[in-house]
Amino acid sequence: MPEWPDLHVVRGRLEKALVGKEIVLVRIGDPLVLRSTRPVETFLAHQRFIGVRQRGKFLIFDLDHGRIVVNPMLAGVFELASAEDKLSRSTALSLVLDDGTDLRYRDDKRMGKVHVLGEGEGFADVHGFAELGPDAGDFSWNEREFAQRSRATRRELRNLLQDQSFLAGIGNAYADEILWEAKLHPKRRVATLSDEEMSRFYRSLKDVIARGAREVEEGLPPELGTKIRDHMQVRLRKGKPCPRCGTPIIKTRHGLDDMYLCPRCQPPPKGQIR
Ligand SMILES: [Zn+2]
Repeated sequence: MPEWPDLHVVRGRLEKALVGKEIVLVRIGDPLVLRSTRPVETFLAHQRFIGVRQRGKFLIFDLDHGRIVVNPMLAGVFELASAEDKLSRSTALSLVLDDGTDLRYRDDKRMGKVHVLGEGEGFADVHGFAELGPDAGDFSWNEREFAQRSRATRRELRNLLQDQSFLAGIGNAYADEILWEAKLHPKRRVATLSDEEMSRFYRSLKDVIARGAREVEEGLPPELGTKIRDHMQVRLRKGKPCPRCGTPIIKTRHGLDDMYLCPRCQPPPKGQIR
């Protein structure tokens, strides 16, 4: 799933590639991902991109007469191709621009949503948008305010990190990385954190997201189309030694999700085995 650092970098790349360009051809590969009350081909044709913004796990493409809002969900990825490149079977939408660039959105799982909105149409129909908290990589709370807001929720740490109405943009991968960095078990409750642990939680969140954005910027190829995960310390590293203490990383279930942690650095809350 693309998370805040991924989309932060993709946003910057797409802004450079798209702004000022005109859409000359619209190709729809999978109408299922489109959400629109109008014929998308005719509506988008000859519109120009005027900006690209990010809110959490959403990208917003502002056009001169409307906008496109994309939530890639689990598997959606953006690609910058050339109009002549072969379309892949999972390309859901292709927008060819007047300079020959082709912006493609591909979604193997078909769970993402591409909303095409007219001028003056708000975000009311975009599921989950109105509830978004501040962006995980760009929020202004200092440590004290963060601690107050966290404690007010009384939640488990991993659930809190993934709650898009608390902070927008963190999913499974960065939640695991942040909690490993902070040496905190995902099922610890916010209320049980000491001041020192809360401070670690805050600093780890800031550091891991900022570092993630730098790593993705370095690793993401010009054509985009992939997720950069090589820099991760625990995510997808089951059985590999913890980079801090050498204990093998474990993979366990968290609701419907997989989570990865170091059983030594991140001891479980009292009364739980792991
Ligand atoms: Zn460890």
